[in-house]
Amino acid sequence: MSGWHHRHILDLASFSRDDFASILELAQRFRSLPVTGVRKLPALQGRLVATLFFEPSTRTRSSFELAAKRLSADVMSFSPSSSSLSKGESVLDTARTYVAMGADVLVVRHRSTSVPQQLAADLDRLGERTVVLNGGDGLHSHPSQGLLDLLTLARHFDAQKPTPQALAGKKIVIVGDILHSRVARSNLWALTGCGADVVLCGPRSLLPEDFAAFVDAPPPGLSCDPVAQRGRVTVERRLEQALPGADAVMTLRLQKERMTQQLLTSLERYHRDYGLSHARLQLCGRQVPVLHPGPVNRGVEMTSRLLDDPSICLVEEQVRNGVPVRMALLYLMAAAESAAESSLVSISS
Ligand code: ASP
Repeated sequence: MSGWHHRHILDLASFSRDDFASILELAQRFRSLPVTGVRKLPALQGRLVATLFFEPSTRTRSSFELAAKRLSADVMSFSPSSSSLSKGESVLDTARTYVAMGADVLVVRHRSTSVPQQLAADLDRLGERTVVLNGGDGLHSHPSQGLLDLLTLARHFDAQKPTPQALAGKKIVIVGDILHSRVARSNLWALTGCGADVVLCGPRSLLPEDFAAFVDAPPPGLSCDPVAQRGRVTVERRLEQALPGADAVMTLRLQKERMTQQLLTSLERYHRDYGLSHARLQLCGRQVPVLHPGPVNRGVEMTSRLLDDPSICLVEEQVRNGVPVRMALLYLMAAAESAAESSLVSISS
């Protein structure tokens, strides 16, 4: 992991293939540690992780908190409704309160794009050593979700050696509300960064045509792409065109809270055109796994029967993989922050 150079983790656009490999390797090691007996690793003893979620969350927040606890960090969590936010305190001042209490890592979620980025820049400007980990910002980015999806898929293709190579040349179909999905955007960088080809599928109102060029330009703020050769991205309007030959399918929640106008005629129509079911998946030509970041609208993105079929639907596996992936992120950030990886207690594989 000596090549790890990210201070804050704000998106996956700046990740190289080696970065993806480091996370997968470390997460796989954390994942295979026994979950009984001595569960905690001492790696982050004495460190403080604060989860600042200005937007609701079930999975991400609890997963980060569990990950931090499994590494022996102290954990503080902030809840907007019972905080001074309601008295008008700014996000930066809220964050600085946790920094003043000694937070080493702030995991930040906000409904507005770029809040974690601005916070990271402000903390750097103020000379603080605290690092920021993006727990999901607006429509923009959700790096830990993109990485746990990567681990889930890599493990599906090669359970013993889930490396970026396991994804190379695979066809991954992402269906649904791409426009409002930070998960889709993070997955686009992660999957193409590992050499997978991504087929996006959805109606024009939820999937603008220009998504086909999403990873073509160098990532924002970089003069060149850190990944030499990415997989391709294509756009299909009909599942019948998208599914044949797929190696895996990811479907996304209809993000009604982010839709500013009426984008769908009806949920029934959406389910008929884009909903996944056992029957529809036969179009893939063989049994392939289905992923969904959650929360799921049962009977909309997929049938209840499919959601409850663990032989196909990997939703619970994604949740399980979230913990070791977030342990890996916290571990690497703490190691980079102290610039003394060797001083962290080493883990054995
Ligand atoms: N939980 C994911 C997110 O925070 C996906 C979703 O909400 O649909 O973006």
